[in-house]
Amino acid sequence: MASSKSTTTPDTSGQHELLVVGGGIAGLTAATFTARAGIETIVINDGESVLRRNAHLENVPGFPAGVNPRRFADMLRAQATRNGAEFQTGTVVNLTGDADEGFTATVAGGVAGDDKEATTGADDEDADPTRELTADRVLAASFPDAEFLDGFDIDTRTADGKQYAEAGELGRTGVDGLYVAGRLAERYHQAVIAAGDGAEAAITLIHDSDIPFYNDWVAPEGYWTDRGREVPPGCEEIDPTEQRARQEAAMAAMQEYFAAPHDQQQRTFPSLVDDEHNRLDWEQ
Ligand SMILES: Cc1cc2nc3c(=O)[nH]c(=O)nc-3n(C[C@H](O)[C@H](O)[C@H](O)COP(=O)(O)OP(=O)(O)OC[C@H]3O[C@@H](n4cnc5c(N)ncnc54)[C@H](O)[C@@H]3O)c2cc1C
Repeated sequence: MASSKSTTTPDTSGQHELLVVGGGIAGLTAATFTARAGIETIVINDGESVLRRNAHLENVPGFPAGVNPRRFADMLRAQATRNGAEFQTGTVVNLTGDADEGFTATVAGGVAGDDKEATTGADDEDADPTRELTADRVLAASFPDAEFLDGFDIDTRTADGKQYAEAGELGRTGVDGLYVAGRLAERYHQAVIAAGDGAEAAITLIHDSDIPFYNDWVAPEGYWTDRGREVPPGCEEIDPTEQRARQEAAMAAMQEYFAAPHDQQQRTFPSLVDDEHNRLDWEQ
């Protein structure tokens, strides 16, 4: 994917700790874990998760009667935001650098600082000029685009117009500081697999950093301390009052999410024309 714009402006917000490329199921789940671990995380996303094309999602754990896939994707995004991840829209068209000096992503289209679902493509005249984002580490979850990884010693392959990047163990690649996750890493094509794979790559990244061994558990008051143990890093003990407060906040949030049907129709396969079925018309 090449940019039609030639102006390059450096990102003024400085070097990020982690750039997640792709705000779909794997990327959003990864970002939730890394942000919760205190890693300053920015997600860059250029379109929509393929899951938004699903008509009704029936095999994700925790939803006995299924769930609207766009609702599910919105909730994943809200969860990443609530835990501290930030968002920009745009397409990563090139990536250079290494773990020692940091990575530089060239971003085309989109809007820096925009926290909405991407609406501007690389050629949109409202989009910001091509810009650069720098980060200590990068986690790529950008199905179906691996082109920006071309400069690295990572095996990629193309099949049916989609690109895949080979992940090593637990989401690591052969390049320090660079991780891949989700369908991009050719994992099975299910949301729960993508989410789990994003979580696994994120926890690997956390373990590879300076953060002490990290579990991300919330346990009841006294779970460790009553046994004379320290609360492990990344874990927390909460008392019954806090437990009730969190449960009430969760109930209120869920009631809000499920108070009304989602307002977006699923889209059909993008290469299908907008014919008499109007299947590309989200407003019908
Ligand atoms: C019609 C359909 C129905 C499905 N139904 C189900 C189902 O019922 N159950 C189920 O479990 N799974 C289902 N799936 C599969 C599921 O949607 C995928 O396996 C899952 O979304 C993969 O997650 P991912 O994060 O790897 O990719 P995605 O969720 O697609 O996320 C990738 C993100 O990366 C962004 N991106 C790509 N390139 C770049 C770039 N260069 N720069 C910035 N951003 C980029 C994309 O815009 C996208 O938002 C369905 C898929 C389709 C198409």
